[in-house]
Amino acid sequence: MHISIDEEALSTIQISAKNSFPNECCGFLFGNESNIAFATEVINTSEKRKTVSFQISATDYIAAEQLALEKDAKLLGVYHSHPNEPAMPSVEDHEAAFPNFLYLILSLSKTKINELKGWKLNHENAFEEQLIKTIN
Ligand SMILES: [Zn+2]
Repeated sequence: MHISIDEEALSTIQISAKNSFPNECCGFLFGNESNIAFATEVINTSEKRKTVSFQISATDYIAAEQLALEKDAKLLGVYHSHPNEPAMPSVEDHEAAFPNFLYLILSLSKTKINELKGWKLNHENAFEEQLIKTIN
């Protein structure tokens, strides 16, 4: 399915990724099934090396569900960054993934944003790439 992302959401993700570099950033995506309207950044609580991993606390998940209710939006999924790595899900990303959740990965280097890719688990529990369309 084709998913569009609003400029505001895209900009939140890019700023979050740049500010966290060389560590991974992470946050939530809100909107409806076909459009990501906004994103919120949360703290990466990973206790491993944050340059290659991220974790979101249970408290932040609960707060995100709450925010979705308040904004009358759907909690669509999670974004995170891959500093100096392609926007492909890692083994850890796969292990931590929930069904029906959208996972956006932003690949970047110190000097530039490379690519944004979207992933969702299919019925075989494998990640399938989702087409993400930027709205200008
Ligand atoms: Zn990852």
